[in-house]
Amino acid sequence: MEQQFDINKLVRPNIAKMKAYSSARDEFTDFDKDMVFLDANENPFDNGVNRYPDPQQGALRRLIASQKEINEDCILFGNGSDEVLDLIFRAFCIPGKDNVMSLPPTYGMYKVLSNTNDVENREVLLNEDFQPDIEAIFKHVDAHTKLLFLCSPNNPTGNLIEEEKIEMILKRFHGVVVIDEAYIDFATAPSWITRLEKHPNLIVTQTLSKAYGMAGIRLGMAFASIAIIDILKKIKPPYNVNGLTQQKAVKHITKTDVYNNETNSILVNKGILCKSLVDIFFIEKIYPSDANFLLVKVDDANKRYQQLIEKGIVIRNRSTQPLCENTLRFTIGTSQENEQLIEALKSI
Ligand SMILES: *Cc1c(COP(=O)(O)O)cnc(C)c1O
Repeated sequence: MEQQFDINKLVRPNIAKMKAYSSARDEFTDFDKDMVFLDANENPFDNGVNRYPDPQQGALRRLIASQKEINEDCILFGNGSDEVLDLIFRAFCIPGKDNVMSLPPTYGMYKVLSNTNDVENREVLLNEDFQPDIEAIFKHVDAHTKLLFLCSPNNPTGNLIEEEKIEMILKRFHGVVVIDEAYIDFATAPSWITRLEKHPNLIVTQTLSKAYGMAGIRLGMAFASIAIIDILKKIKPPYNVNGLTQQKAVKHITKTDVYNNETNSILVNKGILCKSLVDIFFIEKIYPSDANFLLVKVDDANKRYQQLIEKGIVIRNRSTQPLCENTLRFTIGTSQENEQLIEALKSI
């Protein structure tokens, strides 16, 4: 399988054929040189954002590459992971013909993107431990199944997908496996980006929206082989990561102490919250979590959700998801927010 894998057999033929749009800023990006820039029809008067942003995101790319110890050419940036995931759909799935596989209960965007791209979303439920059912998956995979989405740690359940199961899927699946690692910085397991070389059919996505604390700037990342990244780069809008986002990301990413400390305190607060939830009479189960949220089973999710809203606390009711009947998802906040949540729960 691994030797035979040829990404060019999976990519949509129209995309295999096309050449990327080459923008003015692609041809010349070195603003440090004393040049006169009359190539991009910009307004010449400097206000900090009058120039188009770097379409290659060079500064950000170098930082992320060194931080993640990965080749710069193995990274794609997007306007949030949502854009990155959409580009993956558009590169590999022929509308009305191909299909993808996702494993509910999981992140809702895989289905939304399937629908917007007119690509069938085949769903095979996770088992009771929220792990993939390998046999059931491969019963539903066919020659047109281009992508398989794994979310690890999984949203909304919080657990990591077992390494062995992921290995089995990577070996057996003929299409591209996408591992969504939005919550990996909270997890006890390492990222799969260290194994990209072994798996030419793997794309790992991450984001600055969670542990890095930058949901507002919209920056998502895909890590994969150069061959896969080159395909995605061809179809990405040239200026998909805006200048303010690039500047802010570059500034914040070097502050490793800040977000590492924040991540640690979120994990400490998760432990504290977990202990307090045990004493709440209507909470029946707290699911194990490798993320910055806890999924809990309650007696009546709609009722408890409403009661918390009345006390000024907004959480997520996940009851409509399969296998998640009467579940609520609590994001871990600051210590103070945590205490407010606990107080509210106790007073119900
Ligand atoms: C929050 C989240 C993301 C992040 O999406 P962005 O568009 O990067 O903010 C991606 N995947 C999952 C599973 C998430 O929960």
